[in-house]
Amino acid sequence: MASVDFVNVRKSFGTHPVIKGVDIEIADGEFVILVGPSGCGKSTLLRMLAGLENISDGEIRIGKDVVNNLPPKERDIAMVFQNYALYPHMSVADNMGFSLKLKGASKADIEKRVKPAAEILGLSKLLDRYPRQLSGGQRQRVAMGRAIVRDPQVFLFDEPLSNLDAKLRVAMRAEIKELHQRLKTTTVYVTHDQIEAMTMADKIVVMHDGIVEQIGAPLDLYDQPANLFVAGFIGSPA
Ligand code: ADP
Ligand code: MG
Repeated sequence: MASVDFVNVRKSFGTHPVIKGVDIEIADGEFVILVGPSGCGKSTLLRMLAGLENISDGEIRIGKDVVNNLPPKERDIAMVFQNYALYPHMSVADNMGFSLKLKGASKADIEKRVKPAAEILGLSKLLDRYPRQLSGGQRQRVAMGRAIVRDPQVFLFDEPLSNLDAKLRVAMRAEIKELHQRLKTTTVYVTHDQIEAMTMADKIVVMHDGIVEQIGAPLDLYDQPANLFVAGFIGSPA
């Protein structure tokens, strides 16, 4: 686990600024949700933290380390995407262990990591199945399993539930929270869904057009929105 800090982070694509000076402090073990309308820069922030996108200015720290120039594989981070593309020709166990295999881990070591992760996620009986034999929720759990086996300092989720139907989405919210309560891994979670943010976050970061409008606990944002945008977005009658 580790803290994460964004310090006056900026990002332009060409001449087009999309992140306009963002400061966010995330404590060790915290579950933080970045929320805001489509196009406001949530995925870009997450991708910069993961090292998948360069930052134009400012600083990103994981723990005490400035990671601005570290390649993704040297950042101790695991990311779960919206399109959790599993390898169709690999079993659940092999999908979950693949990143460890790439790092050269032995078969026994991989099994030692995959088994407990599968147990946590309720996948123990499905390890020999293939993705096409799984439900949407089970596939989502395998995608999380791939992240868990790496035992990273930080989990990143980018709209992980947006491809699921409404009922499953609600169930998976609870599962992800339980997982966090168990592992206590620092988590940065992106969604455009206010309800998801309000029900899951320790702390919410409300973004709008490349800036942070407000950071606070769900109820604080609801009770004391900083401005009309936050009030409107979070849904309180300001
Ligand atoms: P969100 O995840 O909040 O929907 P994004 O971070 O994906 O928003 O995008 C923020 C802005 O940056 C959008 O205007 C988007 O069009 C732009 N953008 C994202 N990625 C690129 C890219 N690779 N090249 C140019 N513009 C991009
Ligand atoms: Mg996005």
